[in-house]
This record gives sequence, C-alpha cells and structure tokens, in this order.
Amino acid sequence: MAADPLPPDSLPDVVAVATAHAERVDTDGVFPSEAVAALRDSGLMGLVLPREVGGMGKGPIEFTEVVCALAAACGSTAMIYLMHVAAAVTAASAPPPGLPDLMSDMATGKSLGTLAFSEKGSRSHFWAPVSKAVAAGDDVTVTAAKSWVTSAGHADVYVVSSGSTSGEAGAVDMFAVPAGTPGLEISGTFTGLGLRGNASTPMSVDIRLPASYRIGAEASGFGTMMQVVLPWFNLGNASVSTGLAAGATTAAIEHVRSARLQHLGESLADLPTIRAQIARMGIAVATQKAYLAHTAQSVSSPDESTLHHVLGVKASANDAALTITDSAMRVCGGAAFSKHLPIERAFRDARAGSVMAPTADALYDFYGRAVTGLPLF
Ligand SMILES: Cc1cc2nc3c(=O)[nH]c(=O)nc-3n(C[C@H](O)[C@H](O)[C@H](O)COP(=O)(O)OP(=O)(O)OC[C@H]3O[C@@H](n4cnc5c(N)ncnc54)[C@H](O)[C@@H]3O)c2cc1C
Repeated sequence: MAADPLPPDSLPDVVAVATAHAERVDTDGVFPSEAVAALRDSGLMGLVLPREVGGMGKGPIEFTEVVCALAAACGSTAMIYLMHVAAAVTAASAPPPGLPDLMSDMATGKSLGTLAFSEKGSRSHFWAPVSKAVAAGDDVTVTAAKSWVTSAGHADVYVVSSGSTSGEAGAVDMFAVPAGTPGLEISGTFTGLGLRGNASTPMSVDIRLPASYRIGAEASGFGTMMQVVLPWFNLGNASVSTGLAAGATTAAIEHVRSARLQHLGESLADLPTIRAQIARMGIAVATQKAYLAHTAQSVSSPDESTLHHVLGVKASANDAALTITDSAMRVCGGAAFSKHLPIERAFRDARAGSVMAPTADALYDFYGRAVTGLPLF
C-alpha cells in the first residue's frame, strides 16, 4: 500500500481558505469559521488520531508541518487547530467511557475540541487548578473560573481541568464536557492584540456531569498534563510561532525584492543592511525549523533528552518569533506599519506564544531545573 503523502494533500486547500479570510478575521476579530469548516472537511482534525477511530494515524512530525503551514496563513486558525489537537490527544490518552463517540467525532471533524485549563486563581500555572470537583453519586460537580478558552462558544467539546474529586492536595482531574452542558458559560469577551479570531474568552464552569466523562482515573490529570498535553501543546505552539515567523520572512523577502527606489534604479534588496537583516531572519527561521523537527522526532522516539527539547522548543520558538517578526517590520518600513503587508498581523499574533502557558519564562526556569538535575516542581 502506498504511504500517505506527507504533509497530507488536503492541506493546501485548507491553507488557501485560511489565507483568503485571514485579514478579515484579524481586522474584525471574528472566529475563522470558513477555515475551521475547511479543516473539519479535510481529515486534518484527526491527523494524529488512530485510524481505528477515523484518524490519519500521523505523528508529531506531520503535526508540526501542518501547524506551521496554517500559522503562515492565519495565526488564529493555527491556534484553534492546535487547541483541537491538544484536546483530542488528551482525550485519546484515556477515552471517557461515557462518551463512546467522542474520539471518532473529534477525528472526523464533527467535534471541534479545546482545552479549558488556565484559571483566574492560578493564572498561567495551569498545572495547579484552584477549582473544585466533588463526587455526587455517579455524577461529579465541577466549579471553576476559566480565564482563557480558545474557541469558546465555537467548540463542541471542552477538556476541562479541575482539582480532583480525590481531595488530595495538588491532584488534578480532567473531564470532557460537551458544549451545551448547563452551567458551562462564556463569561467575558476577547479583544486581543493578536490572534484576534481566537475567541479566547473566559468561561465560568458550574456543572454537573456523569463521572464517566472523566478522562483517565481520578487524580490522573497532572500526569496526563505532563506526559501528553505538554509535548503536544509545546510542539504545536512552537509551530505556530515558527509558522508566523516564516510567513513574515517570506512576505518581507517579497517586499524588499519588489519595492523600488526609482531615483537610484534599485530595490530595497540592493541595500546591504536590508540583505543582512533578511539573512538573519532566514537563518533564524531555518534554525527554529531544525529544532522543531528534532524535537518532533524526539517525541516520536523518546529518550532521556526528550523532556529538555519539549521544554526548550516552545521558549526558543516563541522568542525567535518575537525577534524575527520585529525585524520584518523594520526591513519593510512604512509598508509593514501601514498594513499594506500581512507582516504587522504576524508581528501581533506572534506576541501570544510567549505568554501562553507554560510561558516562555516559566519554560526557561523548568529547562534550567531539568538540566541541572532539580525537580521541575
Ligand atoms: C491568545 C491566547 C489564547 C489562550 N488560549 C487558552 C486556552 O485555550 N486554554 C487555556 O487553558 N489557556 C489559554 N490561554 C491562557 C494562557 O495559557 C495563559 O494562562 C495566560 O496567557 C497567562 O496570562 P496571565 O496574565 O494569567 O499570566 P501570569 O501567570 O500572570 O504571568 C505573568 C508573567 O509572569 C511570568 N511567570 C509566571 N510564572 C512564572 C514562573 N514560574 N517562572 C517564570 N516566570 C513566570 C510569566 O511568564 C509572565 O511573564 C490563552 C492565552 C492567550 C494569550
């Protein structure tokens, strides 16, 4: 049997839809419904889910390639896709018995998923929810104030973290919560500097649901966060940063080649300082892509260095994207500043990566702990 193409051949069509709507999504701050519909139809929602549930059975390498390509077209679409995949792999690690169709629905695009982890009380420390879950017979009640939920109001299923019903200090539970569950409400608005189509609003959670919607055993959530969510989310988030940086670099190269200084008979690319900036940007993108590919390979075949790469790749890509998109603004001058180019959108979108948890600064601390033999927590 011939191997499936890598990346999947449905990707260019989705990228074309995302590109066509990216500027309006950003300007109007609206959810990228067209691109998400294209994703639902493309098979890509199940990219890394097993074939038995209708997925494509691909791995971390293909995932990073898809997210990079989406991010170069539309940062909001890429982040929405990343949060879906992060929710899907989390649910797939221990599918909740009470939702037998969940994995096939997430794989085939019927259900868009997202993570509702961050809380008002513990801020970016998503691994330490201050929310409560309490057992009530065969049900569980969950009360939480979630501070940011990408795709809020658009997702079909929310992977919600909370303190565990076990009552054990620091223990975490996770639940798959279908949209429409009474007590799961949007509790604010999202008006961001970047990723303006993300619908990353706060949500209040005051729900009762069957205990069989729990992902994994009672108190297993922290382990799932570290073993499943961390590698996939960090790879995907680093891919968003790298894709945004790559898109800005491509746009900057096109601009400096075509923008003319008529009185000199030259283009911007004839200026040595511009060429040097472009060179640094191109080299930095290539460096990040290589680190991303290396980390994706390491997550596919883990060894003792995998955790270091998982911690490092997001921080490195987040910070590189800040520098690269800043350079793109500079070399393209007023054309970038005045929105004639898609570069200022990438510049703004790229600001999200380093503040998304685990934040880049937290990751530098974790990386330092890991390489010096200290416990992460
Ligand atoms: C566009 C966008 C979409 C998002 N989508 C989701 C989502 O779908 N689901 C979800 O659960 N969350 C989501 N988040 C939330 C995100 O993951 C973070 O929780 C949030 O950005 C943290 O913001 P804060 O102001 O609460 O950070 P704070 O925790 O207040 O951090 C402020 C500063 O302190 C630093 N800091 C904090 N702890 C440490 C540490 N241990 N070491 C070093 N420095 C530290 C941070 O790096 C940061 O510079 C989203 C955020 C954004 C921006």
